[in-house]
Amino acid sequence: MLYAYEAETESVPPQSFLGMDYAMHGLYADSEGNRPVYPGYYREVEEKLKREQRKLSHMVKDSQNWKKQKKKIAKLFAKTADQRKDFLHKESRRITNAYDCVCIEDLDMKAMSQEMNFGKQVMDNGWGMFTDFLKYKLEEQGKRLIRVDRYFPSSQICSCCGEKASVTKDLSVRRWRCSYCEAEHDRDINAAVNIRNEGIRMTSG
Ligand SMILES: [Zn+2]
Repeated sequence: MLYAYEAETESVPPQSFLGMDYAMHGLYADSEGNRPVYPGYYREVEEKLKREQRKLSHMVKDSQNWKKQKKKIAKLFAKTADQRKDFLHKESRRITNAYDCVCIEDLDMKAMSQEMNFGKQVMDNGWGMFTDFLKYKLEEQGKRLIRVDRYFPSSQICSCCGEKASVTKDLSVRRWRCSYCEAEHDRDINAAVNIRNEGIRMTSG
């Protein structure tokens, strides 16, 4: 058996594990090779929001037009927030129903944004909200969200043979071949598989 579950919870022993690697553009890549993206209607509204924000930046502050534009943006902003929340609910529900254990990296989003100077981009793609939804939905069903140590080198290990590949330290390398076992890897999917495997290791007695 893969998993020794804590005696005090009434959880079922997880049979299926999914690993997820956070993606700044999009949401995540998973250990099954999927990369879900926000639906088209969401991205359309998001694009519109960006356009309207650009318009606002060219307007005279506190003018009538500026105030009108502010209101328009607030409405659009609320709309994208609703749509995002709705999508993240559906997505977390789908995963909860399909897997017993979901493994993610324990990321510090705030520190990541600051260190890498990505600013709001990192904070706003919904990952934090998504993992909160996942956690409570999984726990409602006696399942688990497992956070793998943020210093676990998920993107540097070959998920086939376990060798460390230095080539992956360059963040721009998206695809690579393991020099030891010659397996071909997609950077994000390989990381997700490693995160899943680490989650399995953490939960096995
Ligand atoms: Zn290898």
